[in-house]
Amino acid sequence: KVLRVALMGLGGYAERVAEAMQHCKRASIAGLISGTPAKLEKWGEKYKVPESSRHNYENFDAIKDNPNIDAIYVITPNALHHNHVIRAAQAGKHVICEKPLAISAKEGQEMVDACAKAGVKLLVGYRMRFEPNTLEVVKLRQAGAFGRLKFFQGQCGFVAGDPAQWRLNKELAGGGSLMDIGIYAINGARYMLGEDPIWVAAQETKTDPVKFKEGVDETIQFELGFPSGAVASCLSSYNISHLDRFFLSGEKGFAEMWPSTGYGPIKGRTHQGDLGKPHTIHQTTQMDEMAAIIFDNKTPILPIDGLTGVQDLQIIEAIYKSCSSGRRETIKLA
Ligand code: NAD
Repeated sequence: KVLRVALMGLGGYAERVAEAMQHCKRASIAGLISGTPAKLEKWGEKYKVPESSRHNYENFDAIKDNPNIDAIYVITPNALHHNHVIRAAQAGKHVICEKPLAISAKEGQEMVDACAKAGVKLLVGYRMRFEPNTLEVVKLRQAGAFGRLKFFQGQCGFVAGDPAQWRLNKELAGGGSLMDIGIYAINGARYMLGEDPIWVAAQETKTDPVKFKEGVDETIQFELGFPSGAVASCLSSYNISHLDRFFLSGEKGFAEMWPSTGYGPIKGRTHQGDLGKPHTIHQTTQMDEMAAIIFDNKTPILPIDGLTGVQDLQIIEAIYKSCSSGRRETIKLA
């Protein structure tokens, strides 16, 4: 069964998803939601979406009565996910939501609750959780190849360009680099170590307060502590380039990935040799796998459910809290 998806928010990432979906076996573009009529027409013609399945932000609730759409993929700025996901759920459609799930754990939980109430699935667009070399390292870890794990390092960042973009607007982004790119290091720490953190110590560095205004973090360094005693040392930045590295160290071995979260190919090695899984287009794999999760109740190797997204937001909130308190903060996950 093919998952018929309506894409919402026809911006940069939606375009990447749409192109990747052309290679999907189990997912297709069946609807479009945009505030720009010209985009609806252009994308509608390109991806052969009939006018009856093209909507705007005011009227997309009508998708409720459209039997040709199974799911809505929310790819709008972070602060809008809450409203868009809840309305998609109320329209009775499964929801795929881009990261971060929301701009607070509270909002994220409301989204999880709304989807549960509507009886639809909520999946987060965590594409790395389907990436073959990432899963290879996870499998090695699960098989004990690294021995007892002691340390993870995750460095995720890029130089944010245009100062007028929504990513640098606290109202729309909910924060700065941590919400957008640092979340990959948080994710990596969790799935590479296979544990959830219990404390954080974080510091923010701001070199350009004009571009990175109050509440929009430029660079954050954070340490996470885990129940086993393992620690993670992470860096999130909107002003350092070529930051895309993971390093995992255990008593018996290591894994190193660079690039670790970009669009690929993901490369790396372990103490046993190079990671050699062939590159797949992340969003193609993600959408085919999501079809199996939704229709076949397939359990993914790494979770991508709403709760995982809420927990990442709880960790983000603890990191921000530690930045302002200057102290180590406890993390209690939902
Ligand atoms: P973008 O600016 O390229 O696109 C955002 C889209 O939302 C645009 O089409 C814009 O018109 C629309 N929009 C609707 N209401 C808006 C409003 N009030 N203000 C501004 N834009 C509005 O951004 P993007 O890079 O496509 O990011 C969209 C989402 O996708 C974000 O949540 C981002 O974190 C996520 N994303 C995920 C990945 C990934 O690899 N998983 C990569 C990039 C972006």
